[in-house]
Amino acid sequence: MTAGAGRFAPSPTGDLHVGNLRTAILAWLFARSTGRSFLLRVEDLDPERSRTEAGQLRDLTAVGLTWDAAPVRQSERTDLYLQAIGRLAEQGLVYECFCTRSEIADAPRAPHAPPGAYPGTCRHLSEDERARRRQLRPAALRLRSGVGEFTVTDVLHGSFTGPVDDLVLLRNDGVPPYNLAVVIDDAAQGINQVVRGGDLLSSTPRQAYLASLLGLPPVEYVHVPLVLNPRGQRLAKRDGAITLGALAGAGMDTDGVRNLILASLGLPPGPLDDALAAFSVARLPREPWVFEAPFPATRAPGVSPAPG
Ligand code: GLU
Repeated sequence: MTAGAGRFAPSPTGDLHVGNLRTAILAWLFARSTGRSFLLRVEDLDPERSRTEAGQLRDLTAVGLTWDAAPVRQSERTDLYLQAIGRLAEQGLVYECFCTRSEIADAPRAPHAPPGAYPGTCRHLSEDERARRRQLRPAALRLRSGVGEFTVTDVLHGSFTGPVDDLVLLRNDGVPPYNLAVVIDDAAQGINQVVRGGDLLSSTPRQAYLASLLGLPPVEYVHVPLVLNPRGQRLAKRDGAITLGALAGAGMDTDGVRNLILASLGLPPGPLDDALAAFSVARLPREPWVFEAPFPATRAPGVSPAPG
């Protein structure tokens, strides 16, 4: 009997920064400390922006992470996503949507509808109306959701209830969205533990609801604290040296970065196996980690650095 698998699933849209690397190390620690295998998935559904896979895998290796199978790429798995949409369609749970973004933004909605929720405009179109609209623009596919919210359990956050709307299952350019792909792939890869940044907790009720409709096994969720800049914002490129490459340029080698991340988790420096031996969920910091990059990445042109 296997304990299942954990995973790290980066989008290859830029180099990994210390926040991504810290989440990856945590995902590895959670998986390994529970006897799970550890897998990687490259979330490259957006081909235009997916260019940094090789660099990301190199950096994950450099900090000492190991994984147990070749990474899978979402761009190669469209058939799986379409099959899942087919299974939902057989249950009468899929409908075509012709709305543009601005039509959705401008549509009247119920007084307590969560911001951004789809107002249901195309839910009840007649067959004639759908045929007419198909001439005008390609349809996206949406889920005919039977609930307005769904509750998940998270190892660090406990019970969490969040909104579920008629989410998109296939964009009108034929690309499946993250919320569908993540659910299908986690199940297909045998993943039963999802460790990721706390910013994704709000999407989790949608994903868990979708998994339940598809009869997929439940997953243990762990949404870990984010890494913030000194102004309390999520790390971004403009924050300066936050990638392994940029930090090396600022004089901090990869072992130094790994040790800094481990220290932020209250874990000993050195190889990840030492951290694993000391790892305990109960002692994990629950607050965001504030990371001050050693130098600013960009300065506004013509502006000299402040003296001193
Ligand atoms: N690809 C997502 C990201 O890089 C993570 C998705 C997930 O872990 O479920 O933010």
